[in-house]
Amino acid sequence: MKIKNCDIAVIGSGPGGLAAALAARQNGAKNVLLIERDREPGGILLQCIHNGFGVEIFKKDLPGPAYAQHYINESEEAGVQFLLDTMVLEITKDKRIFASNKSEGMLEIQAKAIILAMGCRERTRAQVRLPGARPAGVYTAGTAQRWVNVEGFMPGKKIVILGSGDIGMIMARRLTFEGAKVERVLEIMPYLSGLMRNYVQCLQDFDIPLQMQHTVKRIIGNERVEAIETVAVDDHWQEVPGSEEVIPCDTLLLSVGLIPENELSQQIGIQLDPLTSGPFVDNHFQTNVDGFFAAGNVVHVYDLVDWVTGAGLRAGENAALYAGGKLSLNKKIPVQHGQNVHHVIPHFLDIDSLATHEEQLQMRVTKPLEDPVKVQVTDGKDEIIASKSLPYARPGEMVTIPLKEKHIESLKKAERLVVQVVDRED
Ligand SMILES: Cc1cc2nc3c(=O)[nH]c(=O)nc-3n(C[C@H](O)[C@H](O)[C@H](O)COP(=O)(O)OP(=O)(O)OC[C@H]3O[C@@H](n4cnc5c(N)ncnc54)[C@H](O)[C@@H]3O)c2cc1C
Repeated sequence: MKIKNCDIAVIGSGPGGLAAALAARQNGAKNVLLIERDREPGGILLQCIHNGFGVEIFKKDLPGPAYAQHYINESEEAGVQFLLDTMVLEITKDKRIFASNKSEGMLEIQAKAIILAMGCRERTRAQVRLPGARPAGVYTAGTAQRWVNVEGFMPGKKIVILGSGDIGMIMARRLTFEGAKVERVLEIMPYLSGLMRNYVQCLQDFDIPLQMQHTVKRIIGNERVEAIETVAVDDHWQEVPGSEEVIPCDTLLLSVGLIPENELSQQIGIQLDPLTSGPFVDNHFQTNVDGFFAAGNVVHVYDLVDWVTGAGLRAGENAALYAGGKLSLNKKIPVQHGQNVHHVIPHFLDIDSLATHEEQLQMRVTKPLEDPVKVQVTDGKDEIIASKSLPYARPGEMVTIPLKEKHIESLKKAERLVVQVVDRED
């Protein structure tokens, strides 16, 4: 078996991995290896040919491949080595990676630090337990996206989409452009699970109906999907008798959530947060296992790619410091979720790093709060350390709260931080 050595190995070349590899080089790591199972770098962005990427970083509305190409070029110029068409099969606590590819067979890579940037995968029919027959024509929205945008063929002509996630809404528009009829988007929750901008631009603008609190009761068809039976549900997801409707169609697309890809992380005992299915991380994006960092959708599902890049840059910088023996081991305080907050990233904060960096806490709310709200970072008792006013907060849209040098003194007195969202009394 071939053995390679490197300072930093990055697993996954989506925007998280590309940014991490680039930052590792820019922060002094000599030998940075970016390992990707696909034939090309870029991750999920390669199939996202719609625009909407880079709004925060570039103040531009780029298509996914253009956004990825920017970081591919920068990484190449910075001297990152790409190992493509190579699947990582196993990692060990002493930072060895076992991988395989067609040209070299099995490979062993010894790194000084490893960055996990494997992204996430879509939930399938099995995970949402859809009843009915098992005909062809039931696909995840991301699979359909790859077929239409990369492979060049259509999944069907008359389509129902289950789930109001961003990929589903984007595919509703894309399939309409390509001549399909999208009959309906069904959402089991009483609110949208993706971004409002995607609802407006992808469904409303194309008169595609969105039916809240509805789901699939039965898939009908033998060889191929022939129809979907839908049903309304109450607040506890119980079917409303008599609300059934049969919609003739040939395809059902599922946009029912993403799962961070952490099978490798679990091999070495990296602790996963049950709320995000991603590793517990500190603000250096280091996991609980020394020398293993994580960035991007592998940590939690981001809404905008710009935040993924930001996390990758921090993970890469800190992995380079770690590999060079320069990552400080300061005391870290836990960051917890309070009222109306589903989860917060990072889980631990090294306050001293605020002297050199602005830090960001990122969170999602548990339910839509349509009236003006205040997002507060407290010490878990009476003191409000930082606060941000918002006109509303929705589960589909991540909220970012900056922490700056001016907050250091109050943070130093806190034993923990609690992030909560409360009504704003104007
Ligand atoms: C369909 C869709 C539409 C989106 N639209 C927008 C938008 O309009 N605007 C926006 O800002 N954001 C959008 N996003 C969000 C953004 O694109 C993602 O948040 C971002 O791509 C996540 O980056 P990542 O690097 O974490 O993961 P990914 O891009 O998923 O990259 C992970 C990489 O890891 C590789 N990998 C995994 N396991 C292994 C292994 N064992 N060995 C080797 N390689 C491995 C994968 O092949 C993949 O290339 C969209 C996302 C999706 C899915």
